Amino acid sequence: MYRQTLSELSDALVQKRISSVELTQHFIDRINIHNPVLNSFITVTVDAAMEQARAADAKRARDETTPLTGIPMAHKDIFCTSDIRTSCGSKMLDNFIAPYDATVVEQLNNAGMVILGKTNMDEFAMGSSNETSYYGVVTNPWKDNHVPGGSSGGSAAAVAAGLIPMATGTDTGGSIRQPAALCGITGLKPTYGLVSRYGMIAFASSLDQGGPMTRSAEDAALVLNHMAGFDPRDSTSVEQPAIDYTDNLDNDLDGLKVGLPKQYFNESLDSEVAVVIDNAIRELEKLGATISDIELPNAHLSIPAYYVIAPAECSSNLSRYDGVRFGYRCDKPRDLLDLYCRTRAEGFGREVKRRIMIGTYALSAGYYDAYYLKAQQIRRLLQQDFKNAFTDVDVIVGPTTPDVAFSIGERTEDPVSMYLSDIFTVSVNLAGLPAMSIPAGFKNGLPVGLQLIGNYFQESRLLNIAHRFQTITDWHRRIPEAFQ
Ligand code: GLN
Repeated sequence: MYRQTLSELSDALVQKRISSVELTQHFIDRINIHNPVLNSFITVTVDAAMEQARAADAKRARDETTPLTGIPMAHKDIFCTSDIRTSCGSKMLDNFIAPYDATVVEQLNNAGMVILGKTNMDEFAMGSSNETSYYGVVTNPWKDNHVPGGSSGGSAAAVAAGLIPMATGTDTGGSIRQPAALCGITGLKPTYGLVSRYGMIAFASSLDQGGPMTRSAEDAALVLNHMAGFDPRDSTSVEQPAIDYTDNLDNDLDGLKVGLPKQYFNESLDSEVAVVIDNAIRELEKLGATISDIELPNAHLSIPAYYVIAPAECSSNLSRYDGVRFGYRCDKPRDLLDLYCRTRAEGFGREVKRRIMIGTYALSAGYYDAYYLKAQQIRRLLQQDFKNAFTDVDVIVGPTTPDVAFSIGERTEDPVSMYLSDIFTVSVNLAGLPAMSIPAGFKNGLPVGLQLIGNYFQESRLLNIAHRFQTITDWHRRIPEAFQ
């Protein structure tokens, strides 16, 4: 069953070939066997899951269903869940149980999904390898001692290894697409504002966006139908007419205009990965697409701008962890200042502290214009580059990452080399656009991701292109040998 996509499992439930209780037990068994190796879950909720599965079966008997009713899933441990601990990968929130569910959690619960647990992640979603997690690194299911990517590394590894058919992720600078690419699954980062951020622990609020991580584009469409939607509790939520993201999956791609940014095919791209991407582009051509080169002239400025804006926002967002209201509190503080200082010194890991310091510095009175303001100006230039590109093409295509998964420990002492793994993804967040990563092939046994970037609210088009690609390729069907 773990080999099947979410939509196939959904059909099996409809045809009563299987019950949600059986399906849930199957995935719990797989988690029990494989999670000790992968470390992709921080929390597994067996009893609550079985209860939800029984409720889903009862709903099905009464015909009160959606295509997701009874399907097991997991949430990245950044989404608040009222009965399950939400750690955000940090010692700071190791004991935190939220008083409410995130909107995304509520929506997928209402759709009848069964929560099997919370997945491992980089601390406060800061990282590209899952190595900053307080709960330890996740292993890439395709190769021992290799990272799964980050920050949604637990979700990506769990889906790739067939421990769960679908998991949620969040993407601030690439954290859905990059781990999806490195683990060989499908990941969708929606347009900023399409999916509610209420109850999704904030890292950099103007960039954060939640989305589905699945085997196939069809699965992502089914899940997005229930994740998207206006939420009055999120002030940046956008009111859009509700659409069914599965409607256009099979549309033909005749005349689709695909743009290849010259700046994504330069010396930073590994030559073997470039061959895989090239072959994938040929497949799109076979499907009727016409290919042309485009320019994103300011692409090289995206990493520096991101690493001013994201830390600036995080330094403000993370000021709430002070040991007073919730989360970790240091032992026997001498006075209030000691409480603040020691709580934060002991509760946060190195990468989080580095970002808070960079952000505080960039926002300080003497440097604000030189760093923060400048970065915001670059952000506008990047938006303009994409806007210009979309006057000529329908979709922008390129690699998701410069190379395949790297080995554990390889980049931990060199933050800049770690930051560069997001070189093709961060500009999308700075512009607020939707983008996907889909499996496109392998290099040395490790998956390569193809990135599709669309114009605002063009998720349906991206899913259509990804789905058509997946009807003539089977990369998304591969399962790592150790997990078959
Ligand atoms: N790797 C990037 C960072 O460390 C992006 C993280 C993310 O998208 N949450 O900030």
